[in-house]
Amino acid sequence: MTNTSNATNEKAGVHVEVVVIGGGPGGYTAAFRAADLGSKVLLIESAARLGGVCLNAGCIPSKALLHTAKVITEAAELPGVRFGKPVIDLDALRKWKDGIVSRLTKGLAGLAKARKVTVMQGLARFASAHMLEVETPDGLKRVSFERAIIAAGSSVARIPGFPYSDPRLIDSTGALAIEDIPGRLLVVGGGVIGLEMATVYHALGSRVTVVEMTGQLIPGADPDIVKPLAGKLARRYEAVLLNTRVAGLESLPEGVRATFAGDGAPPPQVFDRVLVAAGRRPNGALLDVEKAGITPTARGFIEVDRQMRTSAPHIFAIGDITGEPMLAHKATHQGKVAAETIAGHAVSFAARTIPSVAYTDPEIAWMGLTETEAKRQGIDCETATFPWAASGRALAIGAEDGGSKLILDKRSRRILGAGIVGAGAGELIAEAVLALEMDAEAGDLALAIHPHPTLSETLAFAAELAEGSITDLFVPRKS
Ligand code: FAD
Repeated sequence: MTNTSNATNEKAGVHVEVVVIGGGPGGYTAAFRAADLGSKVLLIESAARLGGVCLNAGCIPSKALLHTAKVITEAAELPGVRFGKPVIDLDALRKWKDGIVSRLTKGLAGLAKARKVTVMQGLARFASAHMLEVETPDGLKRVSFERAIIAAGSSVARIPGFPYSDPRLIDSTGALAIEDIPGRLLVVGGGVIGLEMATVYHALGSRVTVVEMTGQLIPGADPDIVKPLAGKLARRYEAVLLNTRVAGLESLPEGVRATFAGDGAPPPQVFDRVLVAAGRRPNGALLDVEKAGITPTARGFIEVDRQMRTSAPHIFAIGDITGEPMLAHKATHQGKVAAETIAGHAVSFAARTIPSVAYTDPEIAWMGLTETEAKRQGIDCETATFPWAASGRALAIGAEDGGSKLILDKRSRRILGAGIVGAGAGELIAEAVLALEMDAEAGDLALAIHPHPTLSETLAFAAELAEGSITDLFVPRKS
């Protein structure tokens, strides 16, 4: 971006009713909803195109590559048919993935135009409670506003001391660029993003080692839901090292030498590339929110109430910058609440759950309370898990290691949470989300007729298990 600190570049100010800072899923949703509700909206985005992390370097490109990975893996494992070794055309793969992203970001630009939302490219920071300074490619612009929505998102967190100037060290954005297929890939972090990228690179031919500091992959989910994934990865990958951390990385001509510490620490090893996927941090540092009277938390997040208002009542914040979970569907819902509150609607962000999905193979999805969390809270709960080995559809698609689990309140029979492992878990979990939001009991799920043979039946079967009415399994009667 042009250096615009020169005062002679300063253009006359713009005044808007609603300014939105950040054009990711939170920001563009808020801007579009505010415009639909009658406000004059300015959307400021520092990048050249809308879409934020999710569209440009997150949800969408990763799912495109994961689709390719899935087809490769399924073809290799398909019983009764032998395909040849896949020939990977990286340029074509990249072009296809980039094409999807560009189609969607262009779509957003069209949606903004149709709603008369003005889009300004530039990096915004607060000058005061009602004024922004925006470094644009044409110089510094001042924007005064009545209401602001901060949707500045998050960036990759860096582990101090690693040799980041070495291009063989990559983050999720670098991994999505798929410049090459490394022979040996070290993935630092066994959370959702690290494992999704590991899935892609393993399918493309890399030998993968995953290092996770805690004792479990995908630490947020229940251990029994993660187990089938962990078992598969232990067989597929060179190593999955739990309770281990990367103590140091050293750039050598032949590769990056990693040293490990912790319970499972192996001797130092050399890798062709290292993907650091150790979390994300909020993008608040450049925003100068203090000048608007807002104090971020020690970690840089901006605190909000249920209307998404910050401590300055005319300034709202949504999405990753407001804290965990950092997920696109949280950002979009919060964006709508902020825009509707500005329009005078009596709304609040009162979602009872924000579902999480790891698009790994098998997929993992969970919502509501996990069993671990329910027990930690001292809730008198029971669980019912239907093993996919008893589902005809799961057997027919080679997904028999899956499982669908419900966590119920023992007395009220209400659904408190659900966890699913297996193909399409991310799609299946939506039914459990609706059940929780509608205060459904296990009996409601069991009595709703699910189409046969589908994986969706497995949630109903879990409910039947809980109700004692299941016929697809034999459960000896309790005396
Ligand atoms: P962002 O998408 O981060 O957008 C913020 C925007 O603000 C950015 O475009 C940034 O350029 C701009 N900005 C920042 N500061 C300023 C400023 N001062 N002035 C102007 N503009 C500014 N989530 C899911 O729900 N599902 C997934 O499958 C999923 N997969 C992911 C995969 C990867 C590899 C990654 C990294 C993330 C993934 N996420 C996923 C998370 C998801 O991308 C984020 O939760 C989501 O993008 C957050 O939206 P947001 O609007 O809060 O912020």
